[in-house]
Amino acid sequence: MEIHRVVASVSVLGLFCLFPAQTALPEDGQPPVAALTITQPKAGGVVSGNVSIVVQVMVPPGAAEPTRMLASLGGVPWVELTKDGDKWQATLNSTLVPNGPQLLKVVTNNRKVQASCTVNVDNPLHCWFADLHSHTSYSDGTYLPSDAHAYARNVAKLDVFSLTDHLESVDANEWQDIRETAWKANELGKFVAIVGLEWTKAWGHLCIYDPPTYRWPTDPQAFYQAAVEANVVLKFNHPGDGTKSHDGLAYSELGDKVVQLMEVRNPVEEQAFQRALRLGWHIAPEGSTDTHGPNWGNTNTWTGILAPGLSVRNILDALANRRCYSTRDRNCRFQFSINGSPMGTIITTPIQKAKLTIQLNDPDDNDVITKVELFQDGELVDVFEPNQKDVLLEKTLTPSEGKHYIWAKVTQADGNLLWGAPIWFIASGKAE
Ligand SMILES: [Zn+2]
Ligand SMILES: [Zn+2]
Repeated sequence: MEIHRVVASVSVLGLFCLFPAQTALPEDGQPPVAALTITQPKAGGVVSGNVSIVVQVMVPPGAAEPTRMLASLGGVPWVELTKDGDKWQATLNSTLVPNGPQLLKVVTNNRKVQASCTVNVDNPLHCWFADLHSHTSYSDGTYLPSDAHAYARNVAKLDVFSLTDHLESVDANEWQDIRETAWKANELGKFVAIVGLEWTKAWGHLCIYDPPTYRWPTDPQAFYQAAVEANVVLKFNHPGDGTKSHDGLAYSELGDKVVQLMEVRNPVEEQAFQRALRLGWHIAPEGSTDTHGPNWGNTNTWTGILAPGLSVRNILDALANRRCYSTRDRNCRFQFSINGSPMGTIITTPIQKAKLTIQLNDPDDNDVITKVELFQDGELVDVFEPNQKDVLLEKTLTPSEGKHYIWAKVTQADGNLLWGAPIWFIASGKAE
């Protein structure tokens, strides 16, 4: 009791010393602070490309003027604003963040001074060329992660690269180096390196993108559960025809939440892809090399990733949403949409008509598109023979009531193949 009373009287005394009565304080007892108002862009508006940001600053008497101010759309990158009278301004490149609603946030160096509003980012998707499966001497490949990243960027001239050494062979120091090398290799708008690993069991191999750890359960169901919890993206690797690996691709509701990709690089793996789709998986075809030699991203198969710009956020968002295609051609651009939703989308609102748009473009003079095959619910339903380098195909379907999926396969004059991600939808089956 005695001790308690002493402590109480000391703290009352302390309060008087900290806050002398003559200082005018706001009701919450804190010193006054500057107030920020985002005057541009408008809250709820649509933004694209370079976004001009204007912030009005009100500094009440007794408050400190901010000396630094930074803005971002829902996370990295942050840009510095410059002062112009009572306004602060900056330009933010919105193509570096995923499309959709993003929180525009402005913060100052002063304590807790910030402002925010939600804007809708809407930028066109570009095709970026990637290799998302390769090895170094940290497992059964050659050289070091730093060599692989330098080669992928400077020699193979990839836009996106992921090194995926067998996690069973990687120790703690190597895991540290794998991550640090990838982080260092990233350059916003220029080159994206995604940290990756390969889970390697007799059951089947899967790549893991953006894993928080190199220690993963060995049992497939426990592995799926851990992957869902870690919010990573998984890919079925070298599936053969799909009957032997990954439990014959038996459908797993848990697995379908987290496996978004499958290697589809030849007609045999195309059978596995068709099988997986029929069994109910929602996956995109992917064309990485799985190279074990010093030729990262420089063989004869690639992945095209559809994203507004080159940033880790954008590429992970594209992979998580299956916005990619497998390509045996190094630079053929391929876009496919239904009612404006890009390849890989699971359209959840029932539709009556499906307006399909397929766009193909190859910068090389000889790379003419000779054939586009359309597959619906596992069946070949249409064949186009455009015999052009630049292709725009449009077609409107009125599908029967129920669930459907449609994807396209492309053949070039030299025999190179491309496989696009499906779009899944529910048709209402209602007449006009
Ligand atoms: Zn493998
Ligand atoms: Zn591998």
